[in-house]
Amino acid sequence: SLSIGIVGLPNVGKSTLFNALTKSGNALAANYPFATIDPNVGVVGVPDPRLDVLGELFGSARVLPAKVEFVDIAGLVRGASEGQGRGNRFLANIRETDAICQVIRVFADPDVTHVDGEISPRRDIETINTELILADLQTLEKAVPRLTKEARTNKDAKATLEAAEAAGKALDSGTTLFASGIDLEPLRDLHLLTAKPFLYVFNLDADELTDDDLRARLSALVAPAEAVFLDAKIESELVELPDDEALELLQSVGQEESGLTQLARVGFETLGLQTYLTAGPKEARAWTIRKGATAPEAAGVIHTDFQRGFIKAEVVSFEDLVAAGSMTAARSAGKARIEGKDYVMRDGDVVEFRFNV
Ligand code: GDP
Repeated sequence: SLSIGIVGLPNVGKSTLFNALTKSGNALAANYPFATIDPNVGVVGVPDPRLDVLGELFGSARVLPAKVEFVDIAGLVRGASEGQGRGNRFLANIRETDAICQVIRVFADPDVTHVDGEISPRRDIETINTELILADLQTLEKAVPRLTKEARTNKDAKATLEAAEAAGKALDSGTTLFASGIDLEPLRDLHLLTAKPFLYVFNLDADELTDDDLRARLSALVAPAEAVFLDAKIESELVELPDDEALELLQSVGQEESGLTQLARVGFETLGLQTYLTAGPKEARAWTIRKGATAPEAAGVIHTDFQRGFIKAEVVSFEDLVAAGSMTAARSAGKARIEGKDYVMRDGDVVEFRFNV
């Protein structure tokens, strides 16, 4: 499934944040049959008020939100691309993720030493990006001789070689590939790290959470990538508290929503995902698909057999269903549409699939 790798320099609060993610994930996993609990993976539900409405309407026994997986990628240090620390292991783990989330320290605490002596978000971001860029340059360096040879006889390899050369130039000038505007499709098999979308978590002191000037300055450092602002220590406390006390703690630091929840939502957007909904007496559930997925692809997320045997989908928009009050009423009102295999799913579609098994 789709996952986001969490990276950051030592002592920025990664473990603290990750423990909170794991705790929150274990609570969520209890709702999912067959969910495995992996110590390196934290799962966060993407809050969706529509699900509660559907749950009420259908008398569903449980409500299952979409989820985003975060993977702890330990070992990013200066020199990781040259095998420093657990450099090689680190690079192998991060290649498998779909996006990269950088945790950046802003909190001051003099008792927690900073690896480079002083707090500087800008320099930390540069350090991390430099390591990722160097790793990509090494990957390209290894690939180019092979591509050069293949390009003599193979047209596809020639296109790949040209893309690789353009990518090398962008990286040399300090630009990450995702931001470079280069067509990365020919380079897909190289699993380049900076070709993945990035997002940023700024780990602030509690009293900085409401500092709008600071937030604007930090956002500007990483734009157009998205930024989430949180206090990892508070996040680790929130997951231990009952809902009402958690809300009180959040409000005491001027927040309406936990940082983990914001992170799940921003992660979802960064990955280019959307949801469709199913509802019945057993469960009301949000299913994750890529934007632009067709009806059979959406069915395949529930079960591969559903995609293979897809016949049609009965689709009603969430708003129309709620206005009608029930599926039967929505059908009588002509609001339920029968869609075929070319239908492109829209966010908030409530769906029943028909299929052959
Ligand atoms: P990691 O090396 O990036 O995994 O960092 P840790 O999560 O182990 O945190 C390093 C130290 O910083 C620990 O003593 C944490 O308690 C502390 N720490 C983490 N997040 C915060 C925070 O938001 N505020 C403060 N004051 N301390 C934090």
